[in-house]
Amino acid sequence: MEDSIGNGWPSCRKCVAGSLLPLSDFGSQGAPIHYKAWVCSNPDCGFNIKIRNGDVYLNEPIASGAMHAPRMR
Ligand SMILES: [Zn+2]
Repeated sequence: MEDSIGNGWPSCRKCVAGSLLPLSDFGSQGAPIHYKAWVCSNPDCGFNIKIRNGDVYLNEPIASGAMHAPRMR
């Protein structure tokens, strides 16, 4: 068994504890876009890098329900 940093994915440059996992997406034409984004596997870190229209975006807020759960009281 290897630890979380030995599994082939690059380790996160921000928190080091997590690994950067590649995410793929599908374009408007249905064509797959491989490795469009890389996200840190450490939920407390949230580091992410995305490629959109040839530009690179660092650390955009993650618009997923998990990361932005509504805080209801
Ligand atoms: Zn990280």
